[in-house]
Amino acid sequence: MATDNGKFSASESLRKTRTFGKVRCHNPSCMGRLEPEPGSEQISCPTCGMTYRLFWVTPELPRIRGPVWEVNRKLAEETLAKKLESSKDASK
Ligand SMILES: [Zn+2]
Repeated sequence: MATDNGKFSASESLRKTRTFGKVRCHNPSCMGRLEPEPGSEQISCPTCGMTYRLFWVTPELPRIRGPVWEVNRKLAEETLAKKLESSKDASK
């Protein structure tokens, strides 16, 4: 019986060689691995939600240029608001 196994493994190995550069989240309490889309200007960490501006050393090698403060400040305010809400409930 003929199978397509040969074809399948060939496309699998091709996909493995096409990985792009990864960067590490700059949040010291996170350090998650980020895989930015090639050419994208910023990325949000899926683990902690911090957003970073990207800089491409080569088309396949990203570096974090710095955090996007507007987004992160908004995030911090939301977290603070939630904390205040829950502390209000606790003080009742
Ligand atoms: Zn993170």
